[in-house]
Amino acid sequence: MTDDETKSLVRKFVLKNALEHDGKARSDTVIAKIIGLKPELRKEVRMILDEINVVVDDVNKLNINEQKADLERIAPEMLVQEHKEQKNALPPLPNAEMCKVVTRFPPEPNGYPHIGHAKAVIIDEEYAKMYDGKLILRFDDTNPLKEKLEYYDAIKNGIEWLGVKPHMIKNTSDDMELIYKYGTQMLEIDAAYVCMCAINTIRENRRNGVECECRHLDHGHNFERWEKMFSEYEPSQAVVRFNGDMKSENTVMRDPTLFRIIDAEHPLQGHKYRVWPTYDLATSIEDSVDGVTHAIRTKEYELRNELYYAIIDKLQLRKPLMMEFSRLEFDGIPVSKRKIKSLIEEGLVKSWNDPRMPTLIGMKRRGILPQAIREFILTLGFTKANTKPPLDVLESINRKMIDPSSIRLFFVNNPTILHVKNAPVKNIKIKNHPDAYMGVREVKVNDTFYIAGDDAKKMKPGSEVRLIGAYNVKIDNVGEKIIGTYNGDELRNISKIQWVSKNNEVKMTIMVPKTLYVDEQYNSTSLEIIEGYSESYVSRLKPDDIAQFIRFGFCRIDSSNVAILTHR
Ligand code: ATP
Ligand code: MG
Repeated sequence: MTDDETKSLVRKFVLKNALEHDGKARSDTVIAKIIGLKPELRKEVRMILDEINVVVDDVNKLNINEQKADLERIAPEMLVQEHKEQKNALPPLPNAEMCKVVTRFPPEPNGYPHIGHAKAVIIDEEYAKMYDGKLILRFDDTNPLKEKLEYYDAIKNGIEWLGVKPHMIKNTSDDMELIYKYGTQMLEIDAAYVCMCAINTIRENRRNGVECECRHLDHGHNFERWEKMFSEYEPSQAVVRFNGDMKSENTVMRDPTLFRIIDAEHPLQGHKYRVWPTYDLATSIEDSVDGVTHAIRTKEYELRNELYYAIIDKLQLRKPLMMEFSRLEFDGIPVSKRKIKSLIEEGLVKSWNDPRMPTLIGMKRRGILPQAIREFILTLGFTKANTKPPLDVLESINRKMIDPSSIRLFFVNNPTILHVKNAPVKNIKIKNHPDAYMGVREVKVNDTFYIAGDDAKKMKPGSEVRLIGAYNVKIDNVGEKIIGTYNGDELRNISKIQWVSKNNEVKMTIMVPKTLYVDEQYNSTSLEIIEGYSESYVSRLKPDDIAQFIRFGFCRIDSSNVAILTHR
């Protein structure tokens, strides 16, 4: 058992770590802090780690307010520090009142969530938190042709993985009766009409600012048509249009569609409905009735704001404030559901969780931590300007987070044999991490090694290299095999290379993801496959573990003998 002082130290650091990471502490960072503070505990690291694991489990069960209260009781000085360190990249919301802010994230369940959605939902959640308010996750599911149960689940899972906790989850499709009620009301007050013009005519008229005859129908006819939309009309025969302004400079306002007929099975509602509201109508009604105070969406919707408020005005509904921010985009990686989906449909990428994908499951598979995504999004802040942040920014945040807990191992690409004359046969102890807390591993070496092909190519007779963690070798002969001679153990300023001892090698395939597009063209070499050897120790790692292959990069273990390059 550890002493009381250590016990209390563990609890303080676990609580502090939890508060810094949205209520979830991690043992690896805590042990690093504690050993840093009390190096003498190093020899008891196993025992302390066990203790930390117990406390982490316990603390992670508490909610953030309970964790704060607990830390305030035992170490108020650490809480003050925590407040100071907290960065507040988001500007305050206009017209926001404490405890009254309601934000919402309204994805359409028509694909897998991506890092752009992470930006939206994290900003929504951060604002809700900032004002002690609420976040609603609302599935904007009013187009049964595109939506699937699989995507509802994918979005829920993605959000959960990000650590985002909505206060309420709902579906727009559960409010259809209410939306019909408002639709009927719009027809009653002449704010809408049923148009039976052909789709092309409507399009042409909207372009030229021309009104059609349907616009001037009397109530009786309008309601007759509205009724028939639910029963006898064909899908393309009639739509309900907003009575806007066909001459408006803002083409969105030229009598946009509010309802259309879609005869398809809905993943949740089956065949219960065939008249479906458009995005614009559903968003105005839902935001208002859900009590949303601040609705945030990407900038390309900006021209739709006029319509958003016009619908709300006509229905005399409560008015949320609509705000815009820039889409998150990267060079060469499409951050859009539509584009991602077409890569899958065209067979260019096999799965949504391909490590090249900006989907959350793709990022996860690559070894990007959800906390890194959150920090990255908050570093970018709430911006309206269209900038493409380099992916390196996310990678460097992730690197800092995974570095303390990633074991260092050797991997040699394109292996070449190195034979060492006069080699000492011994067990070599190699540190699993530059910091001592991850321990050491023992590797038995004799006189034959595998080294990376690229390193082998650079060798010349007479040159000298150091096998990292082992000894120095003077090169005698280069060719298909490299022959060298043992040349002492002392550290010298010579090139240092990784190695795998013969008979200790395991085959390793590493997938190296690159950008999906280069100059707008699909990059057919965007997934490089590298084959090589790693040490047998790698077999102890499990899927999701991350290792740093020395002089190669951080890799997430994907399955036995397969890893994915997270980043260098
Ligand atoms: P896509 O064009 O990829 O299909 P979308 O906007 O249609 O994306 P939705 O599910 O309809 O995706 O969007 C849900 C929310 O996520 C919206 O508020 C939208 O503004 C936001 N969002 C979508 N893509 C991005 C992005 N790349 N960056 C930031 N926010 C995004
Ligand atoms: Mg959309």
